[in-house]
Amino acid sequence: MKRLLTTVYAICFLILTFAFISCGDRDLKRGERSISASDLAEYVKALGSDDFMGRKPFTGGEKITTEYLAEQLKRIGFEPAFGDSYFQKVPAVEITSQIDDQIVIKNGNRIIKMSAPDDIAVISPRLTEQVSVKESELVFAGFGINAPEAGWNDFEDLDVRGKTIVVLINDPGLYTGDPTLFKGREMTYFGRWTYKYEEAARQGAKGVLIIHETEGAGYQYTIPRKSSISPKLYMQPAAGNESNSSQCEFTGWISAQAADSLFSLEGYDVDQLRKEACKKGFRGFRMKSVLSLEIKNTYTFNTSTNVAGLLKGGKNADECIVYSAHWDHFGIGEKENGDSIYNGAVDNGTSMAWVFEIGQAFSSLGKLPDRSVILFFPTAEEQGLLGSSYYTENPAFPMEKTVACFNNDLMLPIGKMKDIMITGYGHSGLDDMIAEAAARQDRYASPDPNSHTGMFYRSDHFPFARKGVPSAFARGNLESREHGREWTSAQETDYINNRYHRPADNYEPDKWDLEGIAEDARLAFYIGYRLTTTDYWPQWKRGSEFHRQETLGAR
Ligand SMILES: [Zn+2]
Repeated sequence: MKRLLTTVYAICFLILTFAFISCGDRDLKRGERSISASDLAEYVKALGSDDFMGRKPFTGGEKITTEYLAEQLKRIGFEPAFGDSYFQKVPAVEITSQIDDQIVIKNGNRIIKMSAPDDIAVISPRLTEQVSVKESELVFAGFGINAPEAGWNDFEDLDVRGKTIVVLINDPGLYTGDPTLFKGREMTYFGRWTYKYEEAARQGAKGVLIIHETEGAGYQYTIPRKSSISPKLYMQPAAGNESNSSQCEFTGWISAQAADSLFSLEGYDVDQLRKEACKKGFRGFRMKSVLSLEIKNTYTFNTSTNVAGLLKGGKNADECIVYSAHWDHFGIGEKENGDSIYNGAVDNGTSMAWVFEIGQAFSSLGKLPDRSVILFFPTAEEQGLLGSSYYTENPAFPMEKTVACFNNDLMLPIGKMKDIMITGYGHSGLDDMIAEAAARQDRYASPDPNSHTGMFYRSDHFPFARKGVPSAFARGNLESREHGREWTSAQETDYINNRYHRPADNYEPDKWDLEGIAEDARLAFYIGYRLTTTDYWPQWKRGSEFHRQETLGAR
């Protein structure tokens, strides 16, 4: 009798489990099936059209874009994430720097005139109308890094207070390839220009110039050049810091060529100097040259807008998974080939479409997911991750209740991929979930082979990671199923060189194949589906610099 009962129980259990699995399976399949390339195309067609005017914060393009996003969230069944609103106001200040086109460098009685922005691309982040720099002493400060944990300090015994520092881009690991130096060729945060500006200010420098180098920067000089002549957005400075004096008076880049002429005046060769600066114990030095420049600033206070929608969970509704993609781009600007609208179809139209399709998959499930799902479209990513940083300080769900963030950026519409490339590979347990989900699609997960460009620090998952939320930036990017690796890499190079941050980043239905992005959306939906139907918390891996975040204590 007992045995019979046990058998009956076992059978019942099996039936129930089977029913649950097949029901879950059916649900999952329904979600996955709802994702399609043609749906993705509809979103990008709209978001990348001239009607959206390049989606620049503070312009007419902002209103059109954010209203469109809210409308679409509502259409796919997501409710407002901020009380009764889809919108979160992000207080910001926009600064336009105008620089006298001549920057004078004096070395004894030799004078060289550099032009802005072709030789030197600088701006002032200060809320002051006039910045006059007169014969500021230049100091070469190696990589401009102070990293006690790496046993590295370029500022040791170097007096840079009130002076202008000239520093190298990236970190010594890249140029030596030595895996024990920082993270070898993979860029650490110390290699990012944002870090170098922050550190220069902490050291009390008046100004900072980063020597451009294409491999170390991850892009050509045209990028900082263009950025310096465009208005820039900052968070509104806190009380007590009204003029933003916690930042340097001026920040920017010097082109490789201009740096060559500057350092030849000093009797140095830049490449040689870089080699020296990679050696532990290298000491920077006071240069013989002084620099003068004038910057006029105009600024306006304004608020931009984050947009987010919420699908409230059925069981653990206070815990959420975030899918994000920035909505902003560069608006209308310098004309190229007769086109002045920076449509940003790939940056970041395709990723916004990816977010919507994932959201649509969740709302097409037979029942609510256990955990809540947030679709998040931050503003001002291109201006330094402003919208996402603001959100992580003022979130719809507390950071310690945010289970994971999946963000995307620059998803190339070049068809199905064999790989799923993880930027920032090795940081968290999400990597393993991605690898498992990739295998289901007959794909493989791979680290980003160009981790030296520091992409992990360059999009909206980064503020989440800084707050301790395991975050993924993953997309097919390395090996086309049809055309292989070389072709794929040529496509990416072509995009970076000819369309990235340029008016030519257009929606081109005849050339595009969105099937790969649809697969990426199914993959991210699958992982999110698993996370929303369990109470599993992905963890940081040992050795990740985010491992020590305070909020981790809550996990
Ligand atoms: Zn982007």
